[in-house]
Amino acid sequence: MRILFLFLDGVGLGADDSQVNPLVAARMPILRALLGGRPLTASTSPFETGRVSLLALDAVLGVNGLPQSATGQAVLLTGINVAKEIGYHYGPKPNPDVAAYLNNGNTIFSRLRARSKSAALLNAYPPRYFQGIDSGRRLYSAIPLALTNAGYPLFTRDDLYAGRALSADFTGEGWRSLLGLTDAPLLSPEDAGKRTAELAAKYDFSLFEYWATDYAGHKQDMPVACSLLETFDGVLGGLLDSWDKDLGLILVTSDHGNLEDLSTRRHTESTVPCLLIGSRDPRREFADGLTDLTGIAPAIQRAILG
Ligand SMILES: [Zn+2]
Repeated sequence: MRILFLFLDGVGLGADDSQVNPLVAARMPILRALLGGRPLTASTSPFETGRVSLLALDAVLGVNGLPQSATGQAVLLTGINVAKEIGYHYGPKPNPDVAAYLNNGNTIFSRLRARSKSAALLNAYPPRYFQGIDSGRRLYSAIPLALTNAGYPLFTRDDLYAGRALSADFTGEGWRSLLGLTDAPLLSPEDAGKRTAELAAKYDFSLFEYWATDYAGHKQDMPVACSLLETFDGVLGGLLDSWDKDLGLILVTSDHGNLEDLSTRRHTESTVPCLLIGSRDPRREFADGLTDLTGIAPAIQRAILG
């Protein structure tokens, strides 16, 4: 069974309050239809239909302080309660304590690699990202670190231009406006969703990292947050149009709350959504016993490796 993991950074299950929660304020007709007309909030979960399951996962993990990206992502990638083992939440980028967990056979990428499964991080990275890494000015975040440690390549500008990868904003608009690469391919959200489905069909496990959601949460920027979510909703529409449910499961989850409560610029202690789209039996199998972030990596492994 294939898994497509759409990772939304910093998106928790919040209140049914359009003043503070862009998941209520944004126009998200595709996601709402999947959830029986309801928004992606705490009061909607748990939820199950013939097509989707939604459950709430604890991201605090029994550790004092607010959950952070490096530890949260390391937990998602390994199934180990890294925050508890090191005694604190840490982020955004892994420090040596966190990186140690991403450095051996612990991660989902390395375990899939050991079993000769195909895996990819669908994001493309621009030339200046690689220049920053090579010069030591920039550190890998947890997901690219885990991927490269396992021996899988990061996708580049060439991959994006050739349609083998996705831009971090899905549409490519940011490559043009923020990176100045004015010839970067532009996709509508729907076409980016179709592209996502095509790419995911090539791999046993594919992951896409939508990190801008956490950034908008820190900025407490409601219009930007709504625009990001509306783009995501369009992507979901294109993706579901092209997705063969017998092919595998789509998983949408996050590392910690943030965006769902714009009354604070900090992360939150909210639960995070685990949204599963696909046939009922594999969804139920995936969700079995899942209560916090530590259950995700083992569930992915069970689904792919059997
Ligand atoms: Zn953050």
